[in-house]
This record gives sequence, C-alpha cells and structure tokens, in this order.
Amino acid sequence: MQQPAWSKTPLHVIVKPTGPICNLRCGYCFYLEKEALYPDERQWRMTAETLETYLRQYIAAQPEGDDPIDFAFQGGEPTLMGLDFFRSFIELERKYLPPGRRFQNSLQTNGMLLDDAWCELLRENRFLVGLSLDGPADLHDAYRRDKAGSPSFDRVMQSVRRLQRHGVEFNVLACVHRCNGDHPARVYNFLRDIGASFIQFIPIVRRQEGLRPGGTKRRRPEEMATPWSVLPKQFGRFLTGVFDLWIRRDVGRLFVRDFDEALAAWTGKGANVCVYQQRCGRAVALEHNGDLYCCDHFVEPDCLLGNIHRQAIAELANSSQQEQFGEQKLLSLPDVCRVCRFRFACHGGCPKDRFLDTAEGLPGLNYLCEGLKMFFSHVEPHMDAMTAELKGGGTADAVMRRLRAQEWQARRTFSAGPVSRNAPCPCGSGRKFKNCCLRE
Ligand code: SF4
Ligand code: SF4
Ligand code: SF4
Repeated sequence: MQQPAWSKTPLHVIVKPTGPICNLRCGYCFYLEKEALYPDERQWRMTAETLETYLRQYIAAQPEGDDPIDFAFQGGEPTLMGLDFFRSFIELERKYLPPGRRFQNSLQTNGMLLDDAWCELLRENRFLVGLSLDGPADLHDAYRRDKAGSPSFDRVMQSVRRLQRHGVEFNVLACVHRCNGDHPARVYNFLRDIGASFIQFIPIVRRQEGLRPGGTKRRRPEEMATPWSVLPKQFGRFLTGVFDLWIRRDVGRLFVRDFDEALAAWTGKGANVCVYQQRCGRAVALEHNGDLYCCDHFVEPDCLLGNIHRQAIAELANSSQQEQFGEQKLLSLPDVCRVCRFRFACHGGCPKDRFLDTAEGLPGLNYLCEGLKMFFSHVEPHMDAMTAELKGGGTADAVMRRLRAQEWQARRTFSAGPVSRNAPCPCGSGRKFKNCCLRE
C-alpha cells in the first residue's frame, strides 16, 4: 500500500499500560473518568501479548532513517504495573530493535512508587523520567492528593532525592492551574532549586460540561471552564513571569519547553510539540487492551482508530481517519488566528482548548488565546534578539548576558539620579522603575 507523505514523519505512541488507573486522585485529572469507556474491565493491565504486539508493530511503523525511536509510558500511573512488566519490556526492546537503531525510553510518573529498585532499573536502562510536580508543597498539594485526600508532596520529594542519588535523568512536568497560576516565581524558583534542568508547563484547561458558547451573549472565558482551569490572562502572566526570570539567568542551563518552542518558531525551525504545530496527529495513545486512539487528549469513542490485535499500528496511525484528525487542527483554525501575527508560533494551540467564540461570534477560538498573545508579545523582542544572535553564529545565552549587563548599567546610572521607585522606568519598558531596572 502506498503510504501518504505525512506518514514519513516520526510516529509517537504513548503507552498507557494501566489505562486510566492511578494511585492519586488529582482534582484536575481528566484520565480517571476514562474508566467509563471500559465498564466491564476488571484487570486494567496490559498483557505480555499486547506489550509484544505493540513493540513489534511500533518499530515496524517508524519511517526509515536514524531518528531515535521513542518508547513512552504514561498513565494513569504506569509504575502500578510493577517492575517485572518493565523488565519484560526491556527484553523485548532488545529483541526487536533493529541493529544500530537508537532508542529513547521515557516514563511519565507521579513519583509515588519510585523506590531504590525502580531507580536502578530506570538508570540502567536509560529511562528519561518525567515527574509531575506543581511547585512547592502548598501549590502542589492544592490538587495533587491521593484517594484518602492526603497530600502527595512529601512522597514526590523523596522520589526526587532518590532519583538524584541514583543518577536518573528526570524532567519536571508542572501543571499550571488556578491555584499556582498566580505564583510563577515561586513555582519556577522552586523547580530550579531542586535541580530540574528541563521543565514543561502544562496549562490545565477543562471545558465546563454542558456549556456551549454562542447565544445572545458572548460568554467570558472563566464561565466556559472549570474552576480549577488556569485563566487565560493568568496563564499569560505565569509564562511571562517565568520568562523574565529565565531570560536573566538560566538561558542555556535550564530548558523550558514553551520557550524552546517559541525560539524554534522564531528561528524558522518549526515546533517539536504538537500543540504549537500547524497540523497534529503523529502522537497516538495506546490503551492497556490494545485500543489505539488519535491522541491522549481524545481517548473517546469517536477517536478510536482500532485495536492493534486486529490491525497494525502503521495502518491505524497512517489511516485517513488519523490524517483527517491531524488536518482538522489546521482546517478548523478560526479567521482571527489565520491573520494573527503570532500564528507562526501558536497555530491556534491544541484543538481540545478551542471552545471560545471569537469577537465576531464564530466558534473555535482557543480558550488560552489572550494569555498566549500576552506571552508571545512579551517574548518577541528577546526572541528577535536570540534569533539574530544564533543567525550570526552566536549562542542564545549571549542575549541573557547582554540583558544583564544593560540592566546593571541602567541601575548604576539611574540609582545616582532622581528617579523615584514608583516612576516609569527610564529604560522605556513602561513598567515602574522598582519593578524593572531597579529590581535585582
Ligand atoms: S497522577 Fe496523573 S493520572 Fe494520576 S490522578 Fe493525577 S493527573 Fe490523574
Ligand atoms: S489534539 Fe492537541 S494534544 Fe492532541 S495531537 Fe493535536 S495538538 Fe496535540
Ligand atoms: S495567539 Fe490567539 S489569535 Fe493568535 S494564533 Fe494563537 S490562539 Fe490564534
């Protein structure tokens, strides 16, 4: 069968070996309710047969070339499968991986079960661990609690220290929600201080059930989303707040996904993450029983591609259904995004979040639009500077050093003059002097 051109781009399968089953009950979780899709299920465990079928088919579905193959486990909570499941996976990976082909194993976890044996296995098999951590204790525990309602922070921090002791590489996945959204500095400084070197900030956005936009009155974003969803402007302030810290001291040392993605867009490389790409559809989700869905955010009956015990992953992931799913991201883009000057970096965000009406009353605007615009406007001059630096053969962190030097100069100059703390900053930023160049 002739494969469509888009099928030549790398395919990612996110494997959910316990389906939505988890040992936490986070207040904002959208996975747990997926139990309802499988009312007769009792086991919620991927079998050895399904694991092997996935591995064989997934490797066969990769386009030729020497790109590393990503094996990614997620939940629910994948560590509930126990160590033996992952030992079997490693054996099968060795058995089926073509000679010379590189691989990258990753595991997204809430960190509740990571003991020394887990850390050994993860280090020996070069797993990149994604650890969910929403900031310091009060902000993390606002939503991340177990079934009894007990906080999870202390156990996650034990896992952080254990991972570090064993030399396991880990990233932090921090959800941004209504509670921590007003605290960019506390969240970022905390994650930086515990030694995170790569952070993904994931906005929690959940549409309020039963509400549709439209009607005689245009609904405000906060009416359209659940009370735990981050507000659009709040998300914009969060990202810009973190960016202001990062650009002054951490460029090249600490990687923040959204900033990397913005820089990739500015330099013309194009985004790596589906949310910021023009089209999506190359990251599918595999349930415990072999059902394959269009995307981890669309594990729902309409987006079921099929089951890998009946049809190969390559066929399902390269099917016209999946192509249409990915293409829909572009086709459903509202006019306001088509003419937006940040379209090249944003592409309207994730379709799951496009549930607002535009000012003209047309559907499909991203709930986070206001915040995304705020973020892109704010980073624009710095992205321009970093792009110019990179094109001239320099490194992005030169911009950080230059900015620091300019601000130091400005502080020296202005501190001798009559500028009051509350006056507009003489550097022309539009902010108060005390919040701009006077600030450490
Ligand atoms: S750890 Fe993840 S899967 Fe588990 S309840 Fe929290 S958000 Fe849901
Ligand atoms: S629907 Fe959203 S999360 Fe899913 S692939 Fe598309 S952009 Fe990515
Ligand atoms: S910033 Fe808003 S208008 Fe612009 S592309 Fe993104 S969602 Fe669309």
